Amino acid sequence: MTISLKLAVLAAALSATAFASAQEKVLNLYSARHYQTDEALYANFTRQTGIKINRIEAKEDELLERIRNEGANSPADVFITVDAARLAKADELGLFAPVKSKTLESRLPANLRTSDWFAFSTRARVIVYARDSVRPEDVASYDDLASGKLKGKVCSRSGSHPYNLSLMSSIIAHKGEQKAEEWAKGVVANFARAPKGGDTDQIKAVAAGECQVALSNTYYVARMMRSDKPEDRKVMEKVGVVWPNQQTTGTHINISGGGMLKTAPHKEAAVKFLEYLASDEAQKYFADGNNEWPAAKGVKVANPALETLGSFKADALNVGELAKNSALAQKVFDRAGYR
Ligand code: FE
Repeated sequence: MTISLKLAVLAAALSATAFASAQEKVLNLYSARHYQTDEALYANFTRQTGIKINRIEAKEDELLERIRNEGANSPADVFITVDAARLAKADELGLFAPVKSKTLESRLPANLRTSDWFAFSTRARVIVYARDSVRPEDVASYDDLASGKLKGKVCSRSGSHPYNLSLMSSIIAHKGEQKAEEWAKGVVANFARAPKGGDTDQIKAVAAGECQVALSNTYYVARMMRSDKPEDRKVMEKVGVVWPNQQTTGTHINISGGGMLKTAPHKEAAVKFLEYLASDEAQKYFADGNNEWPAAKGVKVANPALETLGSFKADALNVGELAKNSALAQKVFDRAGYR
C-alpha cells in the first residue's frame, strides 16, 4: 500500500469513528444508586428509544471526583444519586447543565425540581417509637424529640449523615438558625447513647429497648416490614411509626434524583433519559426499587409496605432551597454537640 493510500484509509477510518460517536445511540450514566429493579428500568428505556445505557456505578463522592477529574472530556451524560444536598453539591461545582423540558416541568411538582436537577423519588423521615412505652401523640412532631419528656429515650445516627443534615436544613428553613440550634441541643440532651449506626440500627435499638424513640427514612421501615426474616417482623411488632409535623409544616422528605452534565457528549439522549425517568412506567421502577414514592404527579405504586404506612402531608419546601442550608446544618449540629 502506498503512503497516500494508507493515509486515505486512515482518514476514512477516523471520519467513520467520528461519525459513529456522533450518531451512536448511547447514554453514559454515572449512578450512585443500584437497586434490583434498575436493570428493568434501563432495559425499558433502551427498548423504547434504541439508546444503549453504559452504566458506571460507584459511591456519589467517587463519581463526583471522577467527573471533575475527567473535566471537559468526561463521557458522563447523566448523574443520579440520593439526597438533595449531594445533587446541590454537584450543581455548586458547576457540573450540571440547565435542562429546559416541558415534560419535566409538567410531570414533576415545582418543589421537586430546580433548573438544573430533578427529583425522581421521595422518602420521608419518620419517627419510630416503642409501642409499649411511648404514646404516638407524644412524638407527633420533630419538636417533641427535643422535649424534656423524652430524656434518655432518643437514639440517633450521626449528625453529619446527609439524612439528618437534610432534616436540620428543613428546620433551619422553617424556624431559623437559632431555633434550629435550640432544637438540636434539646435532642442531644435526650440521647440514650452517643449517635451510631444507620437508620435500621436505630429501629432495632428501639425494639430492643435500648432507647424508645428514633428517626428513620421510610424505606428502611418498609424494608423491615417486607422482610422474610422472623426477627425483623418481631422488631416491627414492637415499633410504631409516626408522620411528624402533620399539623404544621408536614413530614420532612428527601429525594433521589439526577441531572444532565454540562460536558455531556449525548445531550439529546440525556434529556430523553431524564424525561423517561419521570414517565409513569419508569417512576414505578425507580421509586418501588427502594420502597420510595414516585416524584411525578398522580403515579401510584402497588407496594404493600407503603400502603400500610398510608398517606401523609409532606413538607412542601423546594428541594433546591432545602439543599442550600446543608453546610449551615452541619455547623448547627456541631455547635449543639450532635456528632
Ligand atoms: Fe439510605
